[in-house]
Amino acid sequence: MLRPFLLLLLLTTLLFSASVKQDLDGAKKNLYSTSKEKQFKAYDTYKRHYIRALINGDVKTQKRCLDGICIAGKKLRIDVSDYQNKRSKLESGSSSKQKASVTKTEKIKQVKVKKEKKVKIRSQHALRGFTWEGNALVLDFDFTLKAKDVNYFKLRPEGKKGYRYIFDVNAIVYKKPVIRHKEIKRITVSQYRRDTIRIVIESSKELTPRFRRDGGSLVITLGVSKVNAPKAKQMPRVTKKNKLIVIDPGHGGRDGGAVGFKKYLEKTIVLQVSKRLAKILRQEGYRVKMTRDRDKTLSLKWRTKFTRKNKPDLFLSIHANAVPKKNAHKARGVEIYYLDAKKGSKRSSRLERKENAADYRAMDSSISKLFSATQSRAKVLESNFLAIDLGQNVVSRLRDNKYKVKDAKVAGGNFWVLVGATSAAALVEVGFVSHPQEVKLLVNKRYQQAFAEGLADGVDQYFMNKARRH
Ligand SMILES: [Zn+2]
Repeated sequence: MLRPFLLLLLLTTLLFSASVKQDLDGAKKNLYSTSKEKQFKAYDTYKRHYIRALINGDVKTQKRCLDGICIAGKKLRIDVSDYQNKRSKLESGSSSKQKASVTKTEKIKQVKVKKEKKVKIRSQHALRGFTWEGNALVLDFDFTLKAKDVNYFKLRPEGKKGYRYIFDVNAIVYKKPVIRHKEIKRITVSQYRRDTIRIVIESSKELTPRFRRDGGSLVITLGVSKVNAPKAKQMPRVTKKNKLIVIDPGHGGRDGGAVGFKKYLEKTIVLQVSKRLAKILRQEGYRVKMTRDRDKTLSLKWRTKFTRKNKPDLFLSIHANAVPKKNAHKARGVEIYYLDAKKGSKRSSRLERKENAADYRAMDSSISKLFSATQSRAKVLESNFLAIDLGQNVVSRLRDNKYKVKDAKVAGGNFWVLVGATSAAALVEVGFVSHPQEVKLLVNKRYQQAFAEGLADGVDQYFMNKARRH
């Protein structure tokens, strides 16, 4: 009885190793193919056989599989550091043949690194926006896309339902667009690496995406139903080169502004948000000047003088709010104010005192009266429009990023810092530093970025609506 059993075992082993060899040879072929799908297949095969080899104690196959996993991981940009560690542990006592294959891995590594260094990303290499054209998603870049700039592959993540279609583009994104389609689970755009944007299209059913480059556009046809272009949310296009925006981060230096929960300071938070906003606007093509870009004491007089001198198309003063401790839990949310001497409500007059406090007394009352008189109704109206656009876009950005926020309050008030502006101006109260939960968001990088993106959306929309009005 023993002999046939041994024979059977030998036969299975032979057959098994033959299929292993066949599989791994196939994987090797796929690994060096240019198709991401095939590379992923190879990755999968290596992983499957690695586990088998681990069970069988077959070190040679383990090494071969780990090498394959590492190369595939590099190509597919999957984190394979665990496998790399396992591979280097197996390395001790390896034969020269295996060393050669490691050298090959290392060579690929070096080539990759060199390639990465070579890619010089300029600020012009950016995603500008998107539109739906029928059933095609059109992503607009500000440079002509070459074949090497776009990398497409498909993934079926293990243990997860659905399909992922992934586009890597050699570019940067400053303001992540919110792209939705009712038949697609999720479309996300993220800065995957310093020089690479990753667009992930997640779908529960299988799609048949096709894509083509068209100058500065990447046109992706997804095989879904058409989208009515006017209804789709898209980033407006306005000639931005000639538009100057002055951003004024409130307070600074000796003047800390409002002191919040856990002693968070208004001056620090508003500078962080302002810098993010300045960066986004600059990358979008606007000209931007800041009254301060560091922790510095500035007088109100200096701020208004600076603004008058620069004659910006838009002036934004960024602040954070606070209420006394007993009301700390009640007051939260975004508030946007525009200069309107006649409309000061009770609430804003308390706020006015706070925000004007820096050197309010230094302002001669006759000068302030003169300033009020020079405020044209047109400017008040424009500023009112601006405040509405800012408020709506900030809230919608924050909600897109899953933050629960109430609608922004928009009101007129007497803020002297706005007096210097020759055109539309607004004072943004980003939130309440006195609120124990809200302050945690206000110091959070992701929240600040979403907030700044919302403000930038608001600026875009204001200019677009203004062009329509005139
Ligand atoms: Zn303030």
